[in-house]
Amino acid sequence: MTRLAQVGSLVIGGGAPVVVQTMTTTDTRDVAATLAQIDRVVERGAELVRLAVPDEAAARALRELVPQAPVPLVADIQFDWRLAILSLEAGVAGLRLNPGNIREPDKVRQVAEAAGSRGVAIRVGVNAGSLDPAILTQYGRTAEALTRSALKEIAWLESVGFTNLVVSLKASEVRLTVAAVRLLAQRSDYPQHLGITEAGDLESGVVKSSVGLGILLHEGLGDTLRVSLTGPPEAEVDCAWEILRSLGLRSRGPEYISCPTCGRCQIDLPALLKDVKNRLRDLRAPLKIAVMGCVVNGPGEAREADVGVAGGRGRGALFVRGELVGHYSYEALPAALEERARHLAEAAE
Ligand code: SF4
Repeated sequence: MTRLAQVGSLVIGGGAPVVVQTMTTTDTRDVAATLAQIDRVVERGAELVRLAVPDEAAARALRELVPQAPVPLVADIQFDWRLAILSLEAGVAGLRLNPGNIREPDKVRQVAEAAGSRGVAIRVGVNAGSLDPAILTQYGRTAEALTRSALKEIAWLESVGFTNLVVSLKASEVRLTVAAVRLLAQRSDYPQHLGITEAGDLESGVVKSSVGLGILLHEGLGDTLRVSLTGPPEAEVDCAWEILRSLGLRSRGPEYISCPTCGRCQIDLPALLKDVKNRLRDLRAPLKIAVMGCVVNGPGEAREADVGVAGGRGRGALFVRGELVGHYSYEALPAALEERARHLAEAAE
């Protein structure tokens, strides 16, 4: 059990559900584009959104973004502590500070005092790629170095009475990240933000994040997470929810069961699955949807699902909660499945 941090309306840690967050990829100074991206990721389930604040113009843009964003915003600050002060004045709910890049205790304490007076949270975000050179020289690129870097910054913040903290220790290597998060959890009870940094694209990044975050979350570690992908932030949010769902920690929207297809499949199953997922993307009810290729495993899985399809020769059998409700042509299947799923979702609300 960790302490809790208050980030705007959100609680992180203290046994609260794991919070899903992401980071925008737009130029923060472009308010319209950034707001549009925030709206898209929130629609997919992002509960907290971080934005890069590389200069004063970006910090000024926050003044327009904060009141219009539907979720709390976090300003990501590197190097220049004054941008943290400007971001606080713009009304952000959280700051991310990198101890490797702001190494002056007095500056960090000034930021902490300004954040504390506004009830704003700070994430101490340590990254293996930007460790303080002194710590790197003494401990190398190790879990010990990541942990000590965080504890040093935490001590600076605590020295002015600031404790509304979240900590993250990130590396692009899964095993280093896992070791560091475990070590910090032994030495500190602040809530932890999980992520495998610079994990890669939609293939390698999804795998590395799922393995690393999966190990830690399964051990009960981690209070919020960001899946870092070289790709759209919407995909980061989708992946985060799939990780949480697969571990039984949280769920949001339909869960899909689909077979890999084989030589017995006589419908275009990948296209059918894609169509169905697009149609049901707005559903929030945790329905189980099975899209199966043939009669070998299809009827069994389809019967177990809330709504399920078992494919045949150019057609498919549709099941609703174990009952066969009809046979449809391949072309008619997506609409028939959507109608049944929406009916169940409405009944569940
Ligand atoms: S359900 Fe049928 S099509 Fe799908 S993998 Fe199994 S045998 Fe192949």
